[in-house]
Amino acid sequence: MSSLDRSHDPARSSWVVSARAHADFPIQNLPFASLKQEGLRGGLAVAIGDDVLDLSMAIAAGWGHGLGEPVRTALAATQLNALASRPADEWREVRLALSDALSDPAWADRLRPALKPARSVTFQLPFHIHDYTDFYASLHHATNVGAMFRPDNPLLPNYKWVPIGYHGRSSSIVVSDVPVRRPQGQVKAPDADAPTFGASRSLDYELELGLFLGGRNALGEPVTAARASSRIFGFCLLNDWSARDVQSWEYQPLGPFLAKNFATTISPWVVTTDALAPFHVAPPPRPSGDPLPLPYLQVPDDWTLAIELEVLLATAAMRGRGDAPARVSQVDFATAMYWTPSQLVTHHGSNGCNLSPGDLFGTGTISGPTPDSRGCLLERTRRGSEPWVLPDGETRRFLEDGDRVIMRAHARHAGAVSIGFGDCTGVVLAAS
Ligand code: MN
Repeated sequence: MSSLDRSHDPARSSWVVSARAHADFPIQNLPFASLKQEGLRGGLAVAIGDDVLDLSMAIAAGWGHGLGEPVRTALAATQLNALASRPADEWREVRLALSDALSDPAWADRLRPALKPARSVTFQLPFHIHDYTDFYASLHHATNVGAMFRPDNPLLPNYKWVPIGYHGRSSSIVVSDVPVRRPQGQVKAPDADAPTFGASRSLDYELELGLFLGGRNALGEPVTAARASSRIFGFCLLNDWSARDVQSWEYQPLGPFLAKNFATTISPWVVTTDALAPFHVAPPPRPSGDPLPLPYLQVPDDWTLAIELEVLLATAAMRGRGDAPARVSQVDFATAMYWTPSQLVTHHGSNGCNLSPGDLFGTGTISGPTPDSRGCLLERTRRGSEPWVLPDGETRRFLEDGDRVIMRAHARHAGAVSIGFGDCTGVVLAAS
């Protein structure tokens, strides 16, 4: 497990006044993002309260002298790959240097010019994402979805032995707020003789956490369970948009393809594994009768995270009236997951697959045992058979054009200052 240091001290506060008791970005968080600057190269920033600190400007103002030239060069890059390829103890040094400067009033005059209101900036992807893999690590999700596609055989016999995943597509990953166009695809109704091609009629979201990897293992050199935790640079929110009608026709025998590769949205902020250290909790025990993981998947001092996630929806009508978004579901990460973050990394690297800085893993849809904790509409409305009724009387089976999906997450644990992930949002555009 990561250890605690002065950057996690609940008593530490910032001279950036809006950071005090901030719901997402108090000084105990300090997540990274990449700013898009029109006509300029953009660059890395850190969230503090309602502001972002431009790291290149902070370095120009004299911050970061103790970090060493390679780290300062990595922080002056436009994305996080260079920093994530440095040793993990340097990630922590950066965090400590940021925490020290943003809590020490002696730095206020020099760093204030490097602060910008978060609402005035736009974001780009925080990493250049070489490879993206999506897992299926929530037992409730696997059971619920399995029951819909295979009522007589919901959970396949490999589920409790192998962390199931599929290779996703990096090119269509977008950052929060980028609109998502309803895909067209091939669909076949169960009673139809032949498929048709057209706009998906069952567009869905999937509530997930993303893991960004750091460090490297050479091709052919497995990642061991003991090393896996140190390979996780940080976490984001992830929406694995899914066209269920396309998926149900195409998914056998090789798994998801065009039903999922048209868009994946991630939150702009990367909450570091170090920032989440106070929220590490022991994984819940496996249900009695379940097999122990094979030895290669037994992670020493394994951890999961005390994070609560929620999905909200704002329809076009609601937004037109200025109504607040309505909550569709809320779920606890630690108890929803069957496999831990380190087990996902261990399994993916167990065959010698080379994992690189900026690789992204999705956890799979995070669903709990109750209807209001299910992380996608497929489960929430039981494949559309039990429509969800919004506060204004509208109903949803799947997403409609103009719907805005909003995902949020907060880490909470006794004795720690809560931290958040910021919003992961996207609005659905009509098919072209
Ligand atoms: Mn997924």
